[in-house]
Amino acid sequence: MTLVNDAAPEVRSTGRKFRAFTAKHLDELTARAGLSPEEQLATRAVATVLPFRTNAYVLEELIDWTAAPDDPIYRLVFPQPDMLPAEDVAVLSDLLCREAPKAEVEAAANRVRMKLNPHPAGQMELNIPSFGDGKVPGLQHKYDETVLYFPKQGQTCHAYCTYCFRWAQFIGEPDLKMAGDDSHQLRDYVAAHPEVTSVLITGGDAMIMGESVLRRYLEPLLELEQLESIRIGTKSLAYWPQKFVTDPDADDMLRLFEQIVESGKNLAFMAHFSHPRELEPLVLTEAVRRIRDTGAVIRTQAPLIRSINDDPKIWETMWRTQTRMGMVPYYMFVERDTGPQDYFAVPLAEAYEIFRNAYKNVSGLSRTVRGPSMSATPGKVCVDGVLDLFGERVFQLHFIQCRDAELVNKPFFAKYDPAAIWLDDLKPAFADRFPWQ
Ligand code: SF4
Repeated sequence: MTLVNDAAPEVRSTGRKFRAFTAKHLDELTARAGLSPEEQLATRAVATVLPFRTNAYVLEELIDWTAAPDDPIYRLVFPQPDMLPAEDVAVLSDLLCREAPKAEVEAAANRVRMKLNPHPAGQMELNIPSFGDGKVPGLQHKYDETVLYFPKQGQTCHAYCTYCFRWAQFIGEPDLKMAGDDSHQLRDYVAAHPEVTSVLITGGDAMIMGESVLRRYLEPLLELEQLESIRIGTKSLAYWPQKFVTDPDADDMLRLFEQIVESGKNLAFMAHFSHPRELEPLVLTEAVRRIRDTGAVIRTQAPLIRSINDDPKIWETMWRTQTRMGMVPYYMFVERDTGPQDYFAVPLAEAYEIFRNAYKNVSGLSRTVRGPSMSATPGKVCVDGVLDLFGERVFQLHFIQCRDAELVNKPFFAKYDPAAIWLDDLKPAFADRFPWQ
């Protein structure tokens, strides 16, 4: 690849320095979206519970302010006044209005957070393994072949998504955080588990880290023969593509990617794109080209979110555009059972129809995508269809991934329920219990 930055001048000119906007800028930004003073206060109240952060690129290049507050990218990053129960928002608004002490606001916000299932799918209890003298901080080992690692320096993002299922990672509460900073402990753990063939570095956003920090985590892994792939979970291509084009360490980062590929491992970018607009800027096209030139593969994924991307045309456009750019559509997820799930959830029956109506219109190259898929406690469950069988309407589902590998790729059935939004809402069909129960 070319390590001289050969991006076109109009792309280089978007290479301003990263500038973050946080809750203290909310009034100014929500006024720009035309919110009334009451709505502005309610937005700030919601932001005491759920994290808010965005940046100048998202504000100026991605949001269509003429359509705000209904614009999908605005809704993707800005808290909505009605995202939390009205009674909670009223209590918090009242505290903010009378300028209550910070500790009082934080205590009230924390009470609301605890009602929002901060660590879904048994993340804190079931997935953190013991090793040597105790737990390995920041490491999760749910499926035999894959280890997830949450580096301490990667626990933030270039902007936060309102629907984020990892929202608990971004607030100051230490009990809600998973993070580690011992790259050798990670390597030793993997070496002691020969069944592990893939490490996923995630967060937050792993690509918030600079090259030298990311290198500290990844280099020790390159000596492990057993590892077939290193995956990086990131929304940086959508929220800050300059990371790979004009940031001061962009070229060094690409060299690190080349080094991983040259070590004989598959470097997979698990890129999160929520809406086709994120694929439009020239700087994104350039970032994708430069990453692909290193030999890394970019796979794309996102959750299906009400009012942001709950339309088959949106998914069809995303998958077509991504395929055209050389990325590989990978997953459509169902919104997880955490945070403001009720607000963003699309029922499983509807999610299946949206998936099918997008999937049927794309070429075989885009049909690498799977979904709608739930990352639930027993594993990743895909909704395959709605059938009428033996006089009963049912969902057909299967495990894409499962704690019990014997159950992977075997169909099972659940009673049809048009209102079900998650695995826990389903009842078994033609059996007294589900195969994992
Ligand atoms: S980029 Fe990912 S981790 Fe970060 S806020 Fe969005 S969904 Fe959450």
